[in-house]
Amino acid sequence: MQLELKEVAKRLKAAKKIIVTAHVIPDGDAVGSSLALYRMLRALGKDVRVFIDDTIRKNLETLPDFDHIEQSTDGEKLEADLVVILDTQLDRIGGVRQATEGLPLLNIDHHVTNQGKGVDLYLDADAAATCEIIFELSKVLKVKLDRETATCLYTGIATDTGFFNYANTRPSTLRAAAELLEAGVEPHKVSEQIEKKPLADVVGECEALKTLKIFFEGKAAGLFIDEELSKKIESTEGFIDLIRIIDGVEVAFLLHCKAENFCRVSMRSKTVDVSKIASTLGGGGHIRAAGCSINAPFDEAKMIITHAIGEAINNAQ
Ligand code: 5GP
Ligand code: MN
Repeated sequence: MQLELKEVAKRLKAAKKIIVTAHVIPDGDAVGSSLALYRMLRALGKDVRVFIDDTIRKNLETLPDFDHIEQSTDGEKLEADLVVILDTQLDRIGGVRQATEGLPLLNIDHHVTNQGKGVDLYLDADAAATCEIIFELSKVLKVKLDRETATCLYTGIATDTGFFNYANTRPSTLRAAAELLEAGVEPHKVSEQIEKKPLADVVGECEALKTLKIFFEGKAAGLFIDEELSKKIESTEGFIDLIRIIDGVEVAFLLHCKAENFCRVSMRSKTVDVSKIASTLGGGGHIRAAGCSINAPFDEAKMIITHAIGEAINNAQ
């Protein structure tokens, strides 16, 4: 069922005990929206727990109330009046899905590929970030945003828009950001915190760039992080941004070997709908930024993803 934001607010108000969760491989929007909603609900006197069933990038550890995130359910069966799933669909919350089985689910998301299976969904695919939706929700809930909550929201909006560079940045995104600054956010501190990297990752970035391959008459560019290179790098965050800027490249992608027979794909596009490519491979995302997992050896995964991108580029012509 598709919900209005007013109905979302009503359900949150009616619940006493609430679990907030977001997607595995959590990004700034997943963590920022979870912590902002946690803080807003706490301000309304709710009993709230946040579960994100995965490791979280070090750069996000300075977000207010980060220590309240529980990173594993330890197989425990959880109790709540309501489970709020943020920034993804039901099948991407890891072990939290099983731990909350049978509980009422409320899903808030901005991914166009979310079909709302098995949940009551508020979807705004035009919102730049789930944090932008949570910002709007704060108005409906009449919760005043303090500097800490505003910092969580700003971090999610800034990271999902590439610091207001991407096509998902809309006038209301910038209005929200302006209000968040008025609430006390210091944008330079957020960007410094988010963008900093260990030396090893910057060196790894140089190594990764050496794997650059150009396909389909310059329309696609890929980076290939195999098992060996993967061991030297803590995070591949931002690697894809190094190649999506290449003149003439319509689809940039990164293939990352995470384990034997398990590879992750990130895609960025200027024209082609990469969410469709990701969906056909069991993933999802947005028109211009999407991802998926491929359960295959690295070389096979390389062929699968390159072929899928080639087809999409051909079909778009
Ligand atoms: P990234 O390349 O930054 O990991 O992901 C780009 C976008 O695609 C993000 O909005 C992310 O949530 C989404 N995405 C990435 N991987 C997957 C996936 O495996 N499944 C789904 N449903 N979405 C994904
Ligand atoms: Mn998001």
